[in-house]
Amino acid sequence: MEFPVEKLINTARAARERAYAPYSGFRVGAALLTVEGRLYSGCNIENASYGLTVCAERVALFKAVSNGERNFAALAVISGRTEFCTPCGACRQVLVEFAPEMDVYMCNDRGEYKRQTAAGLLPLSFYLPPAAGGDNPPGGKKPPTRLTEPVDR
Ligand SMILES: [Zn+2]
Repeated sequence: MEFPVEKLINTARAARERAYAPYSGFRVGAALLTVEGRLYSGCNIENASYGLTVCAERVALFKAVSNGERNFAALAVISGRTEFCTPCGACRQVLVEFAPEMDVYMCNDRGEYKRQTAAGLLPLSFYLPPAAGGDNPPGGKKPPTRLTEPVDR
């Protein structure tokens, strides 16, 4: 399926207008495209207790996951600044959980972007094998093959 990246970026830009950022003034929007072609948007939502603030990327992803989505193709994130808007470390870990191969478009205020996969943004991300009888990993994917090394080198 073809999907214009401009549409993804424009959706993120529109979501940015709904940001709740009274403390930092740093307004961010995100748009998430599922493999099936559905779009979910998110904006950052700050809180007077700063640590409770949630980023736009996680809002979009959590909206999608809570709606039953598990397969993601791309995410765009945009702020109103000239610098490219890159996901924070916490968001990178959350993105890798569901879609390590997903393309992440990190945009500036002009809609220009840098692209990288979610896994590429977080090498050596934290990994925990799913528990027996627990939820299946996203997309029914098997855990990646990992090489083992001898303890003594
Ligand atoms: Zn974040």
